[in-house]
Amino acid sequence: MSNYYIVNNNQTRNPGLHHEVHTLEHANKLGIVNRISLGYCVNEVEAVRKARTYYQDADGCAICCPNAHRG
Ligand SMILES: [Zn+2]
Repeated sequence: MSNYYIVNNNQTRNPGLHHEVHTLEHANKLGIVNRISLGYCVNEVEAVRKARTYYQDADGCAICCPNAHRG
């Protein structure tokens, strides 16, 4: 199973200040429009790895990317 992921261009407090990775579905639910598409990834760990090529502080969303969430 793969999912489509994006990274938020705006930093989010979660509670640290990070660029958060979300699934496309969750990003749309949250209304995140200022974002970079990461494309289809096998899981959130791969998505965060891709996001780190844009933002070194990229972190997975606690809700939609729990396995890549560091805090
Ligand atoms: Zn999310």
